[in-house]
Amino acid sequence: MKIKKETLDFIVEACRNTYPNEFIGLLRAKNNVITEVLVIPGSTFEQSRSTLKEYMVPLDPTIVGSIHSHPGPPIPSKADLNFFARHGKIHIIVGINEIRAFDRHGNQVPLEIIK
Ligand SMILES: [Zn+2]
Repeated sequence: MKIKKETLDFIVEACRNTYPNEFIGLLRAKNNVITEVLVIPGSTFEQSRSTLKEYMVPLDPTIVGSIHSHPGPPIPSKADLNFFARHGKIHIIVGINEIRAFDRHGNQVPLEIIK
């Protein structure tokens, strides 16, 4: 999976603005390139337990996964893994010093940044 640099920059900025609370959103992709972040109305940004209202998630085939931030290392929690399994194939965690991407099972996967 690939991500546009400007999309990743936007994500990092949103995470920074939300810190120390966790930012959470969904990812939209076109032809395997993530180009957009979708913030679901009613999402709450809190420490260690940001949530989005699952019933507010649109039925949208361009949604491929999620992104959220951690105020520490980007290691998925048990709640994260449950969430990943239900919300697509690619899940990004923005940690304090590192960004990692995971599949729906929580295995780390490569994320290529493109112009
Ligand atoms: Zn998490």
